[in-house]
Amino acid sequence: MKISEILSRGGKAFPSLEIVPPLKGMTKDELIESIRPFMEFSPQYINVTCHRDEYEYREKPDGSYSRHLVRKRVSEVAVCGAIMSEFDIETVPHIICGGASAEEIESELHDLRFMGISNVMALRGDSIAGEKRFTPVQGGYRYASELVSAIRRFEQISRQETGIPGNGIAAKGKGDNPATFSIGVGGYPEKHFEAPNIETDIVNLKKKVDAGADYVITQMFFDNSVFYDFVGRCRAAGISVPIIPGLKPLSTARQVSSLPESFSLDIPVELTDAIKAAGDDREAVYRIGTEWCIMQCKDLLRHNIPAVHFYTMGRSRNIVEILKECF
Ligand code: FAD
Repeated sequence: MKISEILSRGGKAFPSLEIVPPLKGMTKDELIESIRPFMEFSPQYINVTCHRDEYEYREKPDGSYSRHLVRKRVSEVAVCGAIMSEFDIETVPHIICGGASAEEIESELHDLRFMGISNVMALRGDSIAGEKRFTPVQGGYRYASELVSAIRRFEQISRQETGIPGNGIAAKGKGDNPATFSIGVGGYPEKHFEAPNIETDIVNLKKKVDAGADYVITQMFFDNSVFYDFVGRCRAAGISVPIIPGLKPLSTARQVSSLPESFSLDIPVELTDAIKAAGDDREAVYRIGTEWCIMQCKDLLRHNIPAVHFYTMGRSRNIVEILKECF
């Protein structure tokens, strides 16, 4: 079932989850057991993130180094397949513009359709280590809005050419066939770090929705008023699709500095002070982060949101506690 259909049913807000594919070497059974604890809370779907290949430098016998692109994690498509073979749940693979040509993305869309996956999350991705700014590969997409348009073109062309694989989305074309994929895109309540201001970022978010995105999932935030303000601004800008808040519980003291640095967001002083006061007591820090997230989630559920999306980042204990308290 498409996420857009799940969202249009309305009713009680539900949880969804986002997982990171395991590093190569982890088994399917280990992956499944890491997800199983969430299942009793009936999440409606599981997003699986996508990661660009990374550069690895290998020393040669003469002492010089050669540069190699390596993939460290199992692919999102393989992880979705593994989850679907074990659980009756929708999966949402992330597709990123970074490191992929239009043709490679088209091949992935064919694979997803073949597997019966009817949901994708369309993202630009970040620059690779060593790159100052995001640069698409030759023939790739510069912005997530271009990727969303390409997915919609893929749907039209592949229906017109049923049975003829390939050769489609790099070419422009329009049609009005029903969608194969429900498409989610990312939104930034505290603005994307490259955007000059929140107004411009919301104009760019609207481009993704106008290109065919069905819903928005937000970057994590720790102050709900920031989310409510963002939703108000989006509605005023004419974005009417569902906006799903993304939450992540703080679980270590280090995240007080690493999360703002990695995701360009603010952590409220009340939360940072509490974590600082906990000092080296890891369990206390974990508890403070979990309780803060429970408080955020309960408040969101009182504000008529369609769903709450949890960034699990390889952890289940805190997310399970939050789901138990809130759903
Ligand atoms: P875009 O929407 O393309 O925006 C990027 C920047 O360009 C913004 O500053 C925007 O304002 C600007 N912009 C957009 N369109 C235009 C335009 N037409 N003209 C000028 N400027 C424009 N990253 C991964 O690598 N893998 C993942 O699996 C992943 N999952 C994510 C899930 C969620 C819910 C979110 C919120 C983020 C995720 N990310 C992931 C991170 C994301 O890839 C980065 O934040 C990336 O820097 C931006 O991606 P985007 O899709 O929001 O880009």
